[in-house]
Amino acid sequence: MSLAFVICSFGFSQKNKLTISYQNDDTTLSNDIEVGFKKIVYTNYPKLMKDFNPKARTDLKIKIDTAYNGVAYAHNGQVVVSSKWMHSNPKDLDLMTHEIMHIIQSYPGGAGPGWLTEGIADYVRFKYGLDNESAGWSLTPFDAKHHYTNSYRITARFLEWVSQHYDDTIVYKLDDHLRNKTYSDSLWNKYTGSTLDELWEAYTQDPKIS
Ligand SMILES: [Zn+2]
Repeated sequence: MSLAFVICSFGFSQKNKLTISYQNDDTTLSNDIEVGFKKIVYTNYPKLMKDFNPKARTDLKIKIDTAYNGVAYAHNGQVVVSSKWMHSNPKDLDLMTHEIMHIIQSYPGGAGPGWLTEGIADYVRFKYGLDNESAGWSLTPFDAKHHYTNSYRITARFLEWVSQHYDDTIVYKLDDHLRNKTYSDSLWNKYTGSTLDELWEAYTQDPKIS
């Protein structure tokens, strides 16, 4: 029989009216990860509250999980990040910007399509990320095989295009509708004068963004 040691670190920190409880189950991970994640939360979360949802919760939990095989997810005020992912992608710190946006979103069940929820979170990573460049992260270049329902960076690029060409506050408006459960596809027409599918069609014809 062998002794199993559970080595982890756990701590609270407070700043900018936020409380973060940080649990790291992998002490072989560079301390730069914790420092980087906290910098992102303390910098971006207050901005996202102000710009999207002033009523968002202010107690957050971050857990670095050695057993989780995905990249990261957010649920109930907690962001879980795969330690394996961070070992192989130590610069991918702005995944935290995407995940904390999910806490800001806190859309009720059935609020709207999942592709839009994920597209908005990546739009926010694109707009607010502290260092996407070091991570080699950018919006996916347009491809004729894309569709707005592809989600994540593909949808985020479309959201940026609509923002640049029609209404630079549309993502903020759609986010509000989703949280209040008043989202419907007709809102695209209301805010731009074109339906969602018409917008996509126009986007495919001239997908340039500046
Ligand atoms: Zn997400």
